Amino acid sequence: MQFIDTHTHLYLPEFDADRDEAVNRAVGNGIIKMLLPNIDMDSVNPMLAAVSRYPGICYPMVGLHPTSVKADYVSQLDKLEDLVAKYSFIAVGEIGIDLYWDKTFLKEQIIAFRRQIVFALKNSLPVVIHSRDSFPEVFSVLDEFEGKGLRGVLHAFTGTIKDAEKAIRMGFKLGIGGIVTFKNSGLDKIVKETGPGNLILETDSPYLAPVPFRGKRNESSYICIINKKLAEIYDMKEEEIASITYLNSTGLFKL
Ligand SMILES: [Zn+2]
Repeated sequence: MQFIDTHTHLYLPEFDADRDEAVNRAVGNGIIKMLLPNIDMDSVNPMLAAVSRYPGICYPMVGLHPTSVKADYVSQLDKLEDLVAKYSFIAVGEIGIDLYWDKTFLKEQIIAFRRQIVFALKNSLPVVIHSRDSFPEVFSVLDEFEGKGLRGVLHAFTGTIKDAEKAIRMGFKLGIGGIVTFKNSGLDKIVKETGPGNLILETDSPYLAPVPFRGKRNESSYICIINKKLAEIYDMKEEEIASITYLNSTGLFKL
């Protein structure tokens, strides 16, 4: 089986002590590609360093994370957008709206989200969307771009079945990770209803480790646990889920 971890922050300090080992464990388990979402200007260099250390395995994204949208967001976006002239990115991410941690910059978060979608369309890139306590706000921005050919993923999806159906109707994939293994998350019932045809696998490591590692550091090798859980939910073979989600990922990110 082959897998793609479509969302890992492998470049963060949590992996400084054993990054090579974590990548080796992942590759040894069939996770042959890892996609790295950016956070802000400070994460660019560590992210690009990981990409040059693991060529053909790690691929970078460019974007300003909603929790990093502060008073200086315009200059951050200007600098981030300049990077496309120099480097090749597979997506604009992660971008979106987060009302869980802080609502102070909600207006700016919406403006930054919209600007980065325009940027993604201009560069023919998919978007990797972070949405926390903000589905109405996220969809209201996405609605403005209907029919414009925008594609992407709702990463770490935790919405309702209605949210899932709306996202799929708009041409989006759902990023499924450790949350689907959490007892009482309810996500198992939602993905059961949507079917595997629009799902992609992700860890969001070092965060959101699946059971039985919940609360510990997450890593890309745990993608196999997510895949196994989905196979149980759909009563399908692990190989089938791996193949469907792999093709969904290569299609979306043009890998
Ligand atoms: Zn993330």
